[in-house]
Amino acid sequence: MKLYNTLTHSRDEFVTREEGKVRMYTCGPTVYHYAHIGNLRTYIMEDVLEKYLRFSGYDVTRVMNITDVGHLTSDGDTGDDKMLKGAKREHKTVLEIADYYTKAFFDDCRKLNIKKPDIVQPATGCIGDFIKVISALVDKGYAYLAGGNVYFDTSKLGKYYVFGDFSEEDLEVGVRDGVEADSNKRNKADFVLWFTKSKFDDQELKWDSPWGVGYPGWHIECSCISMKYNGEYLDLHCGGIDNVFPHHTNEIAQSEAYLGHEWCPQWFHVHHLVTNDGKMSKSKGEFLTVSLLEEKGYDPLVYRLFCLNSHYLKSLVFSFDTLDNTAAAYKSLVTKISRLDTDDKTPVDAAAFDRLKKAFTDAMDNDLNTSQAVTVLFDILKDTTSDSTKLALITELDKVLSLGLIEAAAKLRSANAAADDIPAEVAELVEQRKAARKAKDFALADSLRDKISEMGYIIEETRQGTKVTKK
Ligand code: AMP
Ligand code: ZN
Repeated sequence: MKLYNTLTHSRDEFVTREEGKVRMYTCGPTVYHYAHIGNLRTYIMEDVLEKYLRFSGYDVTRVMNITDVGHLTSDGDTGDDKMLKGAKREHKTVLEIADYYTKAFFDDCRKLNIKKPDIVQPATGCIGDFIKVISALVDKGYAYLAGGNVYFDTSKLGKYYVFGDFSEEDLEVGVRDGVEADSNKRNKADFVLWFTKSKFDDQELKWDSPWGVGYPGWHIECSCISMKYNGEYLDLHCGGIDNVFPHHTNEIAQSEAYLGHEWCPQWFHVHHLVTNDGKMSKSKGEFLTVSLLEEKGYDPLVYRLFCLNSHYLKSLVFSFDTLDNTAAAYKSLVTKISRLDTDDKTPVDAAAFDRLKKAFTDAMDNDLNTSQAVTVLFDILKDTTSDSTKLALITELDKVLSLGLIEAAAKLRSANAAADDIPAEVAELVEQRKAARKAKDFALADSLRDKISEMGYIIEETRQGTKVTKK
């Protein structure tokens, strides 16, 4: 499989350190508000990637953090803690906020058929691990204490800006308009590992540490949680494109300084969902959520399809017009599947199955081309192969795409049957007739048809199966 690697700026062949085993890490949500559908684009694409790796035969261990402490409103080291801001807004404690929005996040994931990672770890549960790694960084000379905070010394690294040749001037970390530079830092790019002194000293959650009572910086949590569960070598690290700098750059700096060797060779980043006004962002206040889409009458899986219809390396512009088109495409897909004969017992045509499955894997192996993979679903429905083969293929591919197609088709089928209002006695005779036809007892089948007709119903054999309608 070829996958774009942000670290090498090229589509590389996906490799793992241990054959057949993928150690995967994904940056989790900061749980101070609902996830917006932009955040969820990233989680949908990571979910498809994880499921495709499993589909391809890998044993995957996927770890995800929950940021419930330490993520400041600026990605540098300035601003309030986002969690504290959420707690103030809602007059709740930080832990209540974290608990509520973590549940809300997984509710959204469930609606979007996003599988829960194997390990989900809130940052507040790993303070001892952070302290252990920060202490080692201090001992090794990679970190220093200044003004009460522990900073990572970026000048100790051979190369800090590993993802690209950023200019120091352009990326003055923490120095934004109207924000003072942190005079404790030895180098502009240095970042905080542990705070005991912050301009915003009303932090609710604090812990004792060798450097005084305080709280961890944001970046250290992902390095430590990944190493705790996936060990010293990671195969694949994922996140949204905004995580590249400073978050992932700092994760690499800390992890490799601590470990003394390369940590993760493959970095997968999902580009943003944007609106015509720009990037969707939680801190901007107004944003679209899964619940809002539901209130407007959209099935969350239509949004999943909307995301799969575009490549993860491109920004995706959200509009309700495009979502409406996707809803129509989803409906057409489900309607076509609902017309397949679920009673077709002809053996699956192995050649057709392999040919169409290969079209799917070719698309996915080509840098996760999900929109091409979705096209294969339509190709399957158009194909001349048997309904049993089509249903087997759709069931198989939907293990990865997770569009709930078979379930939605079954629902539609029973809704249509209910709408046709077929009485139970007639439905029973229809089943008996199907069995008679299968047993090639055509005399019985014909007499059952006559009986059904006497009861006021017409029975027809169509390519989509047996159809019963009122006369
Ligand atoms: P957060 O909860 O803010 O920590 O973000 C959770 C994830 O969503 C991170 O991986 C971000 O990179 C990603 N993300 C943030 N904004 C967007 C967006 N507009 N589109 C896609 N992903 C995003
Ligand atoms: Zn992270």
